[in-house]
Amino acid sequence: MAPVEYGEAEMKEIYTLVDLKSWKPKAKTPIRLGVFGNPVAHSLSPEMQNAALENCGLPMRYARFQIGAGELPAALELLPELNFVGVNLTVPHKIAALKLMTEVDESARQAGAVNTIKIEDGKLRGFNTDGKGFSRAIREEFSVDLRDLRVLVLGAGGAARAIALECAKENSERLVLANRDFEKAKQLADELRSFFGEARVLGPVPRLQAIPWDEAAFRFQIANVDLVVNATPVGLHHADAAPISARLLAPHLMVYDTVYSSRQTALISAAVEAGARAANGLSMLLHQGALGFEIWFDRAAPLNVMRKALL
Ligand code: NDP
Repeated sequence: MAPVEYGEAEMKEIYTLVDLKSWKPKAKTPIRLGVFGNPVAHSLSPEMQNAALENCGLPMRYARFQIGAGELPAALELLPELNFVGVNLTVPHKIAALKLMTEVDESARQAGAVNTIKIEDGKLRGFNTDGKGFSRAIREEFSVDLRDLRVLVLGAGGAARAIALECAKENSERLVLANRDFEKAKQLADELRSFFGEARVLGPVPRLQAIPWDEAAFRFQIANVDLVVNATPVGLHHADAAPISARLLAPHLMVYDTVYSSRQTALISAAVEAGARAANGLSMLLHQGALGFEIWFDRAAPLNVMRKALL
């Protein structure tokens, strides 16, 4: 098989594990960063990170890698010898990666998920910037802090875990967790229980609660929350309906869809239609990416350059 010449003027849209196995450094600006996921074609991280690398005069590039769930250990193992600086992880790798790290930062240990890996002295160091990125995104989009909000999180996977943990750490007024697999929501609520020891607020409504994925439960909770966060992949595909019924949405809500796409997701459209404030996941992508850049290079990220690249 011919060696893959990476970092040439024409980068491939998507690389694979097979490419990594025959990787051969050649170019002046080699690929030394990337995002691993499946699917990964939709990821805008390369646009954002390559703009930052260029702006900072760092002679390397960032690429997309389609890596299946079973391929992650082999792909990660190759990175130190291929002189990678780091990678981001997206669906479905964030939780599985935790046990593949040499060292795990507190942010990833607490979230139970890794979204940023830094490779240093042959070691894989796992971090999680999703929670902080989410918090900054909410402040930017809605001019409000998580501590002042009652939050309903849809999902209990890697992104939802980081978001829920951030809400807990920032002492949100309420946190309600809903997941298709109810047991996972319940388990996440149990893990976060110690953050919600203070008195209940708003009468009989518990500050922390896991609820089943059904319309009646959503209807009751929506009257008692300010922010609804979609942390499921529902919306990634153009034909996807909103993860919860459009008729549940109300004008008092802020709706944050962590999914970002070139067109409005069904959830965002429904929220706007209902008179709610709504934002998509681009701002979270920006802030989690900027925090990742800072981990890799120990320097401030050029936030405005990254934002412009995304828009
Ligand atoms: P995971 O695979 O770890 O988790 C997926 C979650 O979504 C699970 O809770 C799963 O429920 C739920 N889910 C999947 N399909 C459905 C469905 N059809 N209906 C209802 N629930 C469903 O993925 P991640 O947490 O890593 O990522 C989730 C999404 O978050 C990504 O697709 C991405 O769009 C977004 N994201 C955005 C970021 C940003 O910067 N904007 C950053 C990180 C993530 P169950 O447990 O029942 O299977």
